[in-house]
Amino acid sequence: MPEIAATTAVTATQNMFWLRVALDVPLNDLFDYCSLAPVPIGQRVIVPFGRRKLVGVVVAHPSSPALAPHLIKAVEQVLDDLPPLPADWMRLGRFAARYYQRPLGEVMLPALPVALRRVSDYRGKRSAGGPVCRIDRRGAPVAPAIAADEPPQLNADQVRAVEMIAAVRGHATILLYGVTGSGKTEVYLHAAQTVLKQGRQVLFMVPEINLTPQLERSLRSRFAPLAGGSDALVVLNSGLSEGERLRAWLAALRGRARILLGTRLAIFAPMPDLGLIIVDEEHDGSYKQQEGLRYSARDLAVWRGSDIGIPVVLGSATPALESWHHARRGHYLLAVLPHRARPVEPPTVRLVDTRRLVLDRGFSGPLVEALAQRLGAGQQSLIFLNRRGYAPVLNCQSCGWTSQCPRCTAYAVLHRRDSRRHYLQCHHCGYQAPAPRACPDCGDPDLRPIGRGTQRVEENLRSLFPSARVVRIDADSTRKKGSAEQLFAQVHAGCVDIMVGTQMVSKGHDFTRLGLVGVLNADATLFASDFRAPERLFAQLMQVAGRAGRRAQGAEVIIQTGYPEQAVYQALVRHDYAGFASHSLAEREAVGLPPYAHQALLTAEAARLAAALDFLGQSKALSEALRGAAADNGAVVLYEPIPLRVVRVANVERAQLLIESRSRPALQNFLGDWSRELPALASAAHVRYRLEVDPLEI
Ligand SMILES: [Zn+2]
Ligand SMILES: [Zn+2]
Repeated sequence: MPEIAATTAVTATQNMFWLRVALDVPLNDLFDYCSLAPVPIGQRVIVPFGRRKLVGVVVAHPSSPALAPHLIKAVEQVLDDLPPLPADWMRLGRFAARYYQRPLGEVMLPALPVALRRVSDYRGKRSAGGPVCRIDRRGAPVAPAIAADEPPQLNADQVRAVEMIAAVRGHATILLYGVTGSGKTEVYLHAAQTVLKQGRQVLFMVPEINLTPQLERSLRSRFAPLAGGSDALVVLNSGLSEGERLRAWLAALRGRARILLGTRLAIFAPMPDLGLIIVDEEHDGSYKQQEGLRYSARDLAVWRGSDIGIPVVLGSATPALESWHHARRGHYLLAVLPHRARPVEPPTVRLVDTRRLVLDRGFSGPLVEALAQRLGAGQQSLIFLNRRGYAPVLNCQSCGWTSQCPRCTAYAVLHRRDSRRHYLQCHHCGYQAPAPRACPDCGDPDLRPIGRGTQRVEENLRSLFPSARVVRIDADSTRKKGSAEQLFAQVHAGCVDIMVGTQMVSKGHDFTRLGLVGVLNADATLFASDFRAPERLFAQLMQVAGRAGRRAQGAEVIIQTGYPEQAVYQALVRHDYAGFASHSLAEREAVGLPPYAHQALLTAEAARLAAALDFLGQSKALSEALRGAAADNGAVVLYEPIPLRVVRVANVERAQLLIESRSRPALQNFLGDWSRELPALASAAHVRYRLEVDPLEI
């Protein structure tokens, strides 16, 4: 403990209440304070911490403090602008901290809106202060009654799914597996309606912010009276202003929000009457937080539902293999929507084997023909390519120089600013420089772009089809606020013949005039070193394919590949998720990969790779000692430390160590002991590290 200020030191221990407080500091510890009056668990308090003051949450009432009583400081202020945080919210925080091996304060405090954990918001407002009071003066109405509009007629499969959800007493997880266009949203809305009628709240999660406006409109028009009560339907995502986020969070906490629609962070919203959690596109990687507390909002949703005894619906056209596995084993209920809601055949999927073809500017003959045909028929086409920029690398023909990023072990990607000016940009660290006019090594002016990104494909399409109206939709073309909406509006209005796009175009949009989807360069993803790469590729291509032929018959998807025999492509041709899932699960079972094993990943970063590897080696050695002592010795396997595929990013070198076990409890026990020892080891080695449980990318 740092030095004690005379004003806050406590001398008398009589009639003193001891409080254990979680603070957002990177120390794996809770901190004891005292108070002259009792302070309930879950209450926020302002406490002195070193020279600073911090907002913390009371998490326990220890019978005696961890330090000598005269070293314990007093709480400065009890923040009574809010009642104590609900007990189930506290349990969720505790579980997430334990499961993901993070200090409790680093989990709980960041889960609160900024205004509720910033000391300056409470300065000089001892009795009537705080941001909560300012928000509350806006006077939102109390929970309005909810009556539904007449919902559309459901088909038999949808009825069965809705009934299955409604029949759940207490907790169950229902995997709603429905092909693209099968009407999953309608099932969600019906299930939500039942719960709202019981006077309970619904948490509706979507993977991305840009999917919320569309859904918000559906929810408002379906539950008409919601439109009247300003807080009855609230949206919570990272795109909101601080004030908006606070308002939504408080509406959830107070029960005024009957439906909370949000992205992954919404899983931490307190909801006292929560009756149903819906996780749409449950397989989507965006549910995984990739910094700080690396949680899976999907997995936490299942835990939360089970903790408070309510149903959780996970929906997808391509469920995560983990979820599919749980359903097959009977841990989840399975509801299937096997048919499209509209009587439209799914698009045919054709594989074009590029090994036997000469490509023209990256395009095979069959794809060019198909594009020409759709243009002639007045239909739209989409060329899907998950690589932005002009070309992934610039290369000197005479000496072999390549456009390497000076700070990373990766190529700087060639981008085009306009027709004459090009620049190099590293997609790992953001490094930018003008593209050289001649080779920096040998002076040869003949520098060639190798491969193609969306910009080059756009250029190629314009030269192949000079009369076609081509637009490009990727992170570069949509940087300005509102530009994505503008581009999509052009597409919907029929002012576009061919779209070139990255994964940005694959989600949520319903393009009514789209007749053809062409997929370029999917093989690059297929052979990534990550064992989940085929699963991700399958989901992504199914999703892209699903953009076509939502309303029009005769839609087609053409995939250019050098590996048409691969299981993932064969399954796509058959629209066979279940077959692909069985095949992949059998493969994983044979080699003991998730979901048949559980993993954690220790990643180390240092100026030099050797230091990172050294730290991982020491951590591994330490684990031998720990495991020797444990009863479940041998249940946890630690692999050899290895450098990351892209070793250096922004002049930091990285390595990782994979930890695996067939037993989840054994892994958790081991990690609990092990992670306590790591901070000291890391600081001695001058290495930064992070421990990730259930990593999605390896
Ligand atoms: Zn050269
Ligand atoms: Zn870089």
